[in-house]
Amino acid sequence: MSCRIRPQQPSEQLDMCQICTQVTPGEPQVVLGKDKSFTYDFVFDRDSTQDQIYEGCSHDLIEGCYEGYNATIFAYGQTGSGKTYSMGTGFDMNAGQEHVGIIPRAMAHLFEGIEKRREAAVADGLPPPDFKVNAQFMELYNEEIHDLLDTTRDPGEKGRKSHIKIHEDAAGGIYTVGVTTRPVASLQDTIQCLKIGALSRTTASTNMNAQSSRSHAIFTLHIRQQRVVTERAVSNPDQEKGTAESMNEFETLTSKFHFVDLAGSERLKRTGATGERAKEGISINCGLLALGNVISALGDKLKKGSHVPYRDSKLTRLLQDSLGGNSRTVMIACVSPSDRDFMETLNTMKYANRAR
Ligand code: ADP
Ligand code: MG
Repeated sequence: MSCRIRPQQPSEQLDMCQICTQVTPGEPQVVLGKDKSFTYDFVFDRDSTQDQIYEGCSHDLIEGCYEGYNATIFAYGQTGSGKTYSMGTGFDMNAGQEHVGIIPRAMAHLFEGIEKRREAAVADGLPPPDFKVNAQFMELYNEEIHDLLDTTRDPGEKGRKSHIKIHEDAAGGIYTVGVTTRPVASLQDTIQCLKIGALSRTTASTNMNAQSSRSHAIFTLHIRQQRVVTERAVSNPDQEKGTAESMNEFETLTSKFHFVDLAGSERLKRTGATGERAKEGISINCGLLALGNVISALGDKLKKGSHVPYRDSKLTRLLQDSLGGNSRTVMIACVSPSDRDFMETLNTMKYANRAR
């Protein structure tokens, strides 16, 4: 669990907003207002860089993917708190390298690691591992899943029922049916996916009145690796090379990595929503609420065998096999430093504390 405080924006400076967040030097602790203090695994203050966020929150999760671990990384917070900026979901070609968010950094890291592993195997005289990486990009809106990589879909057409289904296999693995899956073999391929998805999302948001703040965007990587099982410890150094090669055994490792740019966590009341809008608000809160419940139940599970309510929302259902168990989960609570956002910041910090 981490907390990132974004810098003040020019408009906040113009409005003379005061800064109400104070990071305790040398501690992963943030004090909100006078005396509300919260401790996380990491706290990133206003001057933190995208690189620091990546190294602190995401680097190790990617390393785990090579060993078959699933992982999920969330950005949580009110609209305008820096979720999309941190995650890199709304990929912006014109942004400088230092502004690049978690997803493109993770992809660069992933493909570099793949290349390194191939080279290392070849250097050891082994067949290089075979990696297959596939990407999906979905949006969860009103408890319906939309495919952001489906270029044939009309993003404005929200009334249409989604045909995407979530299933569970015998081993407890979650999979979706009806979602575009794009093979990605390079950073360029992935950036292409992000662009298509981001475009699909923004097109929809102009039609749908800033919908993106009320939907969850989920970028998923499926990584499949076939590699030689190395048994150096038991291998006989006198063995002839030819024999060693013919005795190669292969194993297949799969892992899933979800990058989740969550819907804005702001309370419905403040925006004064009614009717359809209120319904949207309720179902978003339903996903965020269910997520909070699932994460806190997972924390308790270590003590007692409590029930984990994955089925309470599409979001938690979709992420079921990538939360808890052998999976690694990181949440970045994104907040504004300005006093006018005090209440939302307090809510975000409490939520992230509960989900610890
Ligand atoms: P959200 O996705 O939570 O609604 P955004 O990521 O869109 O929020 O951020 C709101 C605005 O603040 C954007 O213009 C974004 O570029 C800017 N911003 C957010 N975090 C940072 C940061 N750490 N450094 C610089 N600009 C930021
Ligand atoms: Mg956003």
